[in-house]
Amino acid sequence: MPPPEPKSSAFAGDLATSHFDIAGADLVIGGIPVRELAARYGTPLFIYDGGVMRRSYRMLAEALSGFARIHYSVKANPAPAVIRLFCDEGAGVEIASLGEYRAAQAAGVKPQDILFAGPAKGARELESVVAGGIGEIHLESFEEITRLTATAARLNVTVPVSIRVNPVASAQGGAMRMGGKPAPFGFDEEIIGDVVGRVQSAPQLELRGVHLFAGTQILDEAVLLAQWRHGIDVAGRVAAIAGQPLDTIDLGGGLGIPYFAGDGQLDLAKLSAGLPALRQQLKSDPLLARARIVVEPGRFLAGPGGIYVAAINAAKVSRGSRFLITDGGMHHHLAASGNLGQIIKRDYPILAPAHMNAAEGSPASIVGPLCTPLDTLARKVEMPDLGAGDLIAVLQSGAYGRTASPVGFLSHPLPTEILIEDGRIEIIHLQEAP
Ligand SMILES: *Cc1c(COP(=O)(O)O)cnc(C)c1O
Repeated sequence: MPPPEPKSSAFAGDLATSHFDIAGADLVIGGIPVRELAARYGTPLFIYDGGVMRRSYRMLAEALSGFARIHYSVKANPAPAVIRLFCDEGAGVEIASLGEYRAAQAAGVKPQDILFAGPAKGARELESVVAGGIGEIHLESFEEITRLTATAARLNVTVPVSIRVNPVASAQGGAMRMGGKPAPFGFDEEIIGDVVGRVQSAPQLELRGVHLFAGTQILDEAVLLAQWRHGIDVAGRVAAIAGQPLDTIDLGGGLGIPYFAGDGQLDLAKLSAGLPALRQQLKSDPLLARARIVVEPGRFLAGPGGIYVAAINAAKVSRGSRFLITDGGMHHHLAASGNLGQIIKRDYPILAPAHMNAAEGSPASIVGPLCTPLDTLARKVEMPDLGAGDLIAVLQSGAYGRTASPVGFLSHPLPTEILIEDGRIEIIHLQEAP
């Protein structure tokens, strides 16, 4: 018999204890009770703990030290305060739009530390980033090669580029699955010869390397290492076709964090222990020996440091089932409602941040204010006795929150967003009362 699934309320409590502080009934972030922050800034509210985000970065940087440079993937959380924090720690960034380029600029990121990926970069986007300066552009279509060549010629500059490759075989679960899947991202490995030819024949483009990105929310370090090994194999084949050494190999993001009771943590010590073999693999190919390795995580860096706080508007019982109806929901936090690509809807870790010392509660469904049953944050989760005005908090909410959500749906206000560090509070967005 499989072991019983751990209780989600215990899982949320463990996460809260490992990331933040608890004082009496209060969850405390950056030295301030969440209850006080909600009273001061209103709800719904995203709170980011800069200390926890730095800790995530430092743990990963240490695990990857001597192997790869970290570029923060801005789409996870594009708040300039968050970008600035990671860059301050030494990260570069990976962006996928002109808007993210502007956010990186606003955060003070140096142009050479910015990598630009994305399957449909527009002419205006290319023009703006080339004019403003960019570390590398990751090419994903023939149209883009033509467009970028013309832009570079017009501006009379040479642009450093990498080729995003959709490999023939993808590494999955440690075993190789033959035949890569169709994808709109990057170029199929089968046609890399043509792509390399086109890039090398454009004097405005300087071929630097390759970019691969195999999957997201990976919690098993063995899978990640297998993908990276496979990525280096692909890079070796591209370098051989190009007949030139590569400067960069971008192995993508995808490092996971636990969201559900029963999820483990990515084991960074084991990840680290697998890296000497990859270094050896790189060293043994003269065309790869001097390449700079990049990984570009988003979720792993930004996710654990953020919580989403909403206030209960009404508590009701319908035919024996308890509902807590809050002012926040899927319009701010689509992922927590289970509607951002999840196959099975399960609850994000959720708790009552001003009732941390409550004895066991009873099951409640926590739902948002939208007029749709999709707007559900938790299904029959154990909650203390709560009523109007009490708070709930969704953990692991620093990545893919507000900007990955349908904020216009039902025309509610945007959430306030703040970053706390060492008792200092930086307001990212303050929602005035409607
Ligand atoms: C989304 C994305 C990432 C970040 O993915 P995570 O799963 O958050 O680490 C990195 N690189 C590219 C190209 C992406 O599109």
